[in-house]
Amino acid sequence: MTVNGGQGDAADRNHNVSPVIRCADCGATLKAEDDACPECGSRNRRIKATLKAALESREFIRMKAKEGGRGKPFLEIRSGDSLFRKTGVWNRIHRIIDRKNDRYYERIEDQSGNVIRLCDEPLSQHRGHGSAKKKQNSRPDTEVGSEDTGSH
Ligand SMILES: [Zn+2]
Repeated sequence: MTVNGGQGDAADRNHNVSPVIRCADCGATLKAEDDACPECGSRNRRIKATLKAALESREFIRMKAKEGGRGKPFLEIRSGDSLFRKTGVWNRIHRIIDRKNDRYYERIEDQSGNVIRLCDEPLSQHRGHGSAKKKQNSRPDTEVGSEDTGSH
């Protein structure tokens, strides 16, 4: 079994993570596909996959607009960083739920600004997806919390 030599393969295959690979001898930056250092020919590599993104300060904006301070908000905006359990990576999410105009907009970017997911469709159509949230009952409209005091 070759334990050595294969190191780094796992990181290379993961497209969501871009670890910094450096030559352990001369410090040159290597590409993931480089087998040996183009500078000095060394095969010793140093892979540094930092968790910097997870340690950065995170922000999240939530906004709800209600008519008369009662009932369901007709407009919801969520914007901020969100940890994706699937990848273990912090992504930036921007979501608008506009009940008045029947619109659902969602954009998810990774930390480098690449759009992972873009969804812009009528809210009434979005319900059919079933990908957004797992709900026991198919009433996605009721997911909205009611923590707002709503007093005017
Ligand atoms: Zn080198």
